[in-house]
Amino acid sequence: MRAYLEHGMHVLPKPVRLYSVGPIFRYERPEAGRYRQHTQFNVEAIGEQDPALDFEVISLALQFFEELGFSKYRLQLNSTGCPKCRPNYVSVLVDYYQDKRDVICDDCKRRLERNPLRVLDCKAEQCQPVIAGAPNIRDHLCEDCRTHFDQLLQYLDNAGIEYDINPRLVRGLDYYTKTVFEVWVQGIGSQNALCGGGRYDGLIEELGGPPTPGIGFGSGIERLVLTLQEQGIEVPPAPKPDVLLVHLGSEAKAEAVRLVSELRHKAVPALVTYGQKSLRAQLRDANRAGVQVAVIIGEEELQKGVVQLKWLDKGTQETVPREEAVQKLVDLFALKEA
Ligand SMILES: [Zn+2]
Ligand SMILES: [Zn+2]
Repeated sequence: MRAYLEHGMHVLPKPVRLYSVGPIFRYERPEAGRYRQHTQFNVEAIGEQDPALDFEVISLALQFFEELGFSKYRLQLNSTGCPKCRPNYVSVLVDYYQDKRDVICDDCKRRLERNPLRVLDCKAEQCQPVIAGAPNIRDHLCEDCRTHFDQLLQYLDNAGIEYDINPRLVRGLDYYTKTVFEVWVQGIGSQNALCGGGRYDGLIEELGGPPTPGIGFGSGIERLVLTLQEQGIEVPPAPKPDVLLVHLGSEAKAEAVRLVSELRHKAVPALVTYGQKSLRAQLRDANRAGVQVAVIIGEEELQKGVVQLKWLDKGTQETVPREEAVQKLVDLFALKEA
């Protein structure tokens, strides 16, 4: 958000859609999947308060987790209100806790003084029955927050996206507003949050900028990898190169080095063998690299302007004019924009 202000991005067409990836540091006791340094990616959409944008950001998160191979995830959803309606809810909540102080944990006693909303996500056993009976923020939202939330639910319903409304999902900081969401999967023993996000309509103003709504989410990459492993989800292997340039003699090598560069510029995943090796050794390399075709250039091919295409899976070989071979490899293997 500081970068948004510093670089004058408020003049860009809104919403401004941004992402960031980088190391995050936290001062906290490390535990399984929670490191003091981890890598997080973030998605933000800034400058628009329409709940249709909340829907866009949530859909993006869900589509990402689906494409990673997660299947049994659940969207957890809540509204955390706004500076207009939240103070009222907080006082109702504190009132409710008034006569329960002797049954709740010490952390919650402190939270009631400093950051009362956080009592709702306490994990302590003794606090659970108290939380279960706590007033629900949804019954205390202002007209604006209620309409926003209902509209978002309608967009999700229309798209057939399932969600759990989770009244315990709250954020402790004042600049968070309205939509709060997380995506959970069942991990070993407990629920793992794959991401957390929501609106922060008050943040840019708090940093000294003009009032600017925004919504986003962040996801920890190490945690994602751990959860993929826990769930036994196979990560697809890195794509293999399709073509290996094989050469015999230094002039043929020069042509092979030129040709591999041409193929790469045309988006064909291609390799060339280094050093001077026998044909047999180079074809063995081709097999090891898992390529589909070896392009063989020797002295004779060089003079005639042809290459040999050796198809490793079929074991067949053909002589093809050089330009025609390039076109053929482009047609077969050039990577296309997704
Ligand atoms: Zn409100
Ligand atoms: Zn507690």
